[in-house]
Amino acid sequence: MTSPVITARTIDFEAGLRRLGYESFRPGQREAIETLMEVGRLLLVAPTGGGKSLSYQLPAVALPGTTLVISPLVALMNDQVQALTARGVSATFLASTLDGDEVRRRMAAMGRGTYSLVYVAPERLGYPGFRGLVHDIEIPLVAVDEAHCISEWGHDFRPEYLEIGGLLAEIPSARVLACTATATPVVRDEILGRLGLPADTPQHVRGFARPNLRLRATEVDDARGRLAEVDALLAEALGRAGGGQGVAIAYAPTRRGAEEEAARLAQRGWKTAVYHAGLGPAARETAQRAFLDGKVEVMVATNAFGMGIDRADVRAVVHLGPPGSIEAYYQEVGRAGRDGAPAWGLLIVSPSDMPRRRRLLEMDAPGEAVLAHKWGLFLELMRWAEGGSCRHDAILRYFGDEAETLDGCGRCDVCLALGSDTAVQDPEAVRLIARKALSGVARVQKKESAAWKNPVDEQLELLIGDPCSRVIRIEVRGQRLRCRQARLQPRHTAELKFGPTIRQRRPTSARRPPDARRESDPHARARASRRSRAR
Ligand SMILES: [Zn+2]
Repeated sequence: MTSPVITARTIDFEAGLRRLGYESFRPGQREAIETLMEVGRLLLVAPTGGGKSLSYQLPAVALPGTTLVISPLVALMNDQVQALTARGVSATFLASTLDGDEVRRRMAAMGRGTYSLVYVAPERLGYPGFRGLVHDIEIPLVAVDEAHCISEWGHDFRPEYLEIGGLLAEIPSARVLACTATATPVVRDEILGRLGLPADTPQHVRGFARPNLRLRATEVDDARGRLAEVDALLAEALGRAGGGQGVAIAYAPTRRGAEEEAARLAQRGWKTAVYHAGLGPAARETAQRAFLDGKVEVMVATNAFGMGIDRADVRAVVHLGPPGSIEAYYQEVGRAGRDGAPAWGLLIVSPSDMPRRRRLLEMDAPGEAVLAHKWGLFLELMRWAEGGSCRHDAILRYFGDEAETLDGCGRCDVCLALGSDTAVQDPEAVRLIARKALSGVARVQKKESAAWKNPVDEQLELLIGDPCSRVIRIEVRGQRLRCRQARLQPRHTAELKFGPTIRQRRPTSARRPPDARRESDPHARARASRRSRAR
């Protein structure tokens, strides 16, 4: 079958937009479609919910034949098919949630060329009947949504995705659009390789900027500090309990943690609900419904909550502990402020996070290489949490979305600290502060750092010469200063206060004995400290 040749130049973008119910393109969308039409291949890197679907829907309504969209998310397929059908675009989906008769009916219609778009779950590709049908109809475009599911490195690996490369090889004339929200170059390369796309396939990165989010990260020493941070943020973002100022999501690392935090917040007067994978389907449905209907002020959940959540006015997302990567964090915090109004994102970290994550990874990583990869992703998040540059810009650089950086968003905690602290502006003052702090660090870690002959001077050079250094971070907050050395482990923290008091903390793995903690005599403290170092 031959069709008139449709290229980026002949496609009617305005008509396509109107047909799909949009007024205008978001930044980068038109360029992505043009590249896909002209080159025939595109890896589109954009966040979940970032408007990727238009990049295949618009060509699908402009091109003759049936565009295939491969997606692992049945709920999303259903939503998109309904929206398209409502606009008069002929579309359907094939998934195992349908009964056999319905699938056969839809496939028969597909064979007659009824649909402009057919969404399929990846397991469908393994059915010979479906593969045969694909050969019999014209397929101008295959869109692979959530393409990182093809990567064995990723946390979302789906073996059925490995079928896609074979399918594409059978229909070489089809254009291919792969969509993902992953930043990791090794995963992007793997997507291209496994789909059989050339290594020089264009990659467009866009849509990660969320300048209305006020991002913050803070380190706390213990549970009490964590709860105080949660309470302060909820007060800032939602006002008082029962005040009707919107909704927040608090992500807890464990199911039990979610239950406990929900109970605590309920005691403080907040209307709460809990959501995690350990609850039955009915309880999860009830919680989700309450959230969507505005009957909840704080949803306390594990990362099981949020897929397909469509509530634009979430005012805050608080993480009681760090998730596994910047990607995971950004996807979760990105559920705040979808309406574009100011919203808050707070990540709370504590010294126990590193060893806990390490244990978790060691428990379920299938091998050394995957473990190292995942550990690296987690460390990127911990480095981001330490700050050093604008949080918004640091995330965009991580994803490779350089076009949307702002040279400082002016809203995150790092930008605000830089803007408000005049002491930081004077290089001599910084030098003096850094020297004081580093001698504190040096004293704390003298034993361990035999490799560094003169840690104070060497680190000071590093700090001043290379502001992006990931080895040492210094924060000046008013009259307090924190200097952290974040090598993998152990982690040392020295805190100084200007004036006579110098507080030093040992890494948590070498805790002083309880009797030493009570001793107030400074010599006794020094002895205790030497004892603990000697162990
Ligand atoms: Zn900023």
